[in-house]
Amino acid sequence: MSTLSLNHQCPQCGAPVELEETERVFACPFCAVRLFIHAHGPLQYYIKPRIHAPGTLIYVPYWRLRGTAYVLDSESMQHKILDSSLLASTSPCLPPSLGLRSQALRLHFVEPETPGYFLRPGFPSTVFKKKLLNAVPGLRPVHGPKLTSCVGDALSLVFLPVFQDQEITDGLTGALLGPACIAEADLCSSEAALHFISTLCPRCGWDLQGDTKSLVQACLHCDTVWEAQPHGCTAVEVRFLESKVTPTRYLPFWNLRFKATGFKLDTWADLIRLTYLPRVIQPWMESTPFSFRVPAFKIQPALFLRLSAQVSLYQPSISPRDTLPRVPLHPVTLPKEEGMDAVPVLLGKLAPTPKLLFPKIHHGRLAPLSATLDYIPFTEDTKEFLQPEMNMAIQKNALLWSTTL
Ligand SMILES: [Zn+2]
Ligand SMILES: [Zn+2]
Repeated sequence: MSTLSLNHQCPQCGAPVELEETERVFACPFCAVRLFIHAHGPLQYYIKPRIHAPGTLIYVPYWRLRGTAYVLDSESMQHKILDSSLLASTSPCLPPSLGLRSQALRLHFVEPETPGYFLRPGFPSTVFKKKLLNAVPGLRPVHGPKLTSCVGDALSLVFLPVFQDQEITDGLTGALLGPACIAEADLCSSEAALHFISTLCPRCGWDLQGDTKSLVQACLHCDTVWEAQPHGCTAVEVRFLESKVTPTRYLPFWNLRFKATGFKLDTWADLIRLTYLPRVIQPWMESTPFSFRVPAFKIQPALFLRLSAQVSLYQPSISPRDTLPRVPLHPVTLPKEEGMDAVPVLLGKLAPTPKLLFPKIHHGRLAPLSATLDYIPFTEDTKEFLQPEMNMAIQKNALLWSTTL
């Protein structure tokens, strides 16, 4: 899969810096400043025009997703890795997708002060994902009941330049695309909410540490974990699972609470009754809330679901701790919102016979309540990370995926 690269001027020293779209901390090699890259919603990029043509320069929006579509029906679980883009407008005559343009050219962040006319997206990313899931190329069509999820490793808006006069001209190739079709009323100035946020610990002022691709950064001075918010960092609620072995690495999982309507899924007992899991309901299960747990890092699709199911069905013992462990915390590279999007298919995967689950959840829905981070301890040998309590092994090269994807 392709990773896009972009150029950005260092907000502190002004040097031009090249970075990958997957980076969440801007690290300037010239002045050494480190800043969280935070957008309220998907990141927005634009490509500068390469030609000049008569008319008004307009940036046209495309939704872009790199990730995985999952489709579960009563027969099987199918998945497909996607690298897709779609024109986020109904204007005729504009190219229907980005094609290879974004891969061949440098991208730039759309910032609140980026000049120019932007065509406002005609539909949100949720609709884009629905369109992708309606017809996933290469998957067996499903006619009966199904559960679907679309989990984006990268979800963004990419703006392409066109010039509109009597005709529309492609701002990259100079090709004539057709007669003018963009209404002036649909144009706006930049609506990007991009912020570069200090990575100094808000509590003690020390430098936060972590991989530049990680959405959370840790303060090893006051033992806290932080994520970017529009107006600064906020502390992330983290828990560390206990283990009888001394870990060499912690892998992060989103602990996701949902409110079900139309069916009951508050406690462990509710889960067992809903999915017909072959377990005896014990008293603690009637009172203990159930939460889903999905990897907070990118990993191969089949493994992503297997780990989600295995970890969600494990009732861990957790005791609060005052300090962060001094072994590596694996980077958090999957946003919590994308983890939440995996939950419908995960619920289906937890059911030994999905056919029995479908009628029970038919008219229901799940709404997210909260997301916290659970770090799970692993040891390692030359090839694998091992988790003894869950009897779980993960090939090391499967985790490489999470840093290269
Ligand atoms: Zn700099
Ligand atoms: Zn601190």
